[in-house]
Amino acid sequence: MNTIQIKDKTFAVSIKEQDILQEVSRVAQEISRDLAGKNPLFLSVLNGSFMFAADLLKRITIPCEISFVKMASYSGTASTGAVKELIGLNEDISGRTIVIVEDIVDTGFTMQRMLEVLRTKNPAEIHIATLLVKPDKLAVDLDIEYAAMHIPNDFIVGYGLDYDGHGRNYKDIYIVVNEE
Ligand code: 5GP
Ligand code: MG
Repeated sequence: MNTIQIKDKTFAVSIKEQDILQEVSRVAQEISRDLAGKNPLFLSVLNGSFMFAADLLKRITIPCEISFVKMASYSGTASTGAVKELIGLNEDISGRTIVIVEDIVDTGFTMQRMLEVLRTKNPAEIHIATLLVKPDKLAVDLDIEYAAMHIPNDFIVGYGLDYDGHGRNYKDIYIVVNEE
């Protein structure tokens, strides 16, 4: 299946599962080497990172833990529409080695906000692992130590990433075509 249709958009296969997994394995090796002895706590950011998190963690060879969090738009008052809060973190992370597991860093604002919130909880260190980075869109200064792949500015779906809630189930990554 080389093209798929989701609602009004057509997507073409861009990165095959086999190529994704090769890069995920590389990242897992790097993390296992760098964080040995630190019992890292992986924080998988839902929903988009669920597939990456599963494949990554299967390849981590050191003692570790995983938990799942979400960045949700805070809807308390009308004026704070852009502010996101972290939900789902029940662990005490003070003194811990944290690895944020994300699907994609685009502008980087979501990641920046997540770092800001996590730092208030006094972890020993925070590392970033992301499946994808769009380097041309990055608008903030982030130290992304573990990135499986860099991609251009096009909109993608599959392998956990969605278009309007759909497409997360595909094992390959697809790129939008004929966008008008
Ligand atoms: P940022 O705050 O870095 O601009 O945005 C990150 C979030 O935007 C990601 O977690 C993801 O939900 C969404 N996003 C950015 N680019 C894409 C893309 O190409 N496809 C999909 N499905 N989501 C994207
Ligand atoms: Mg995400």
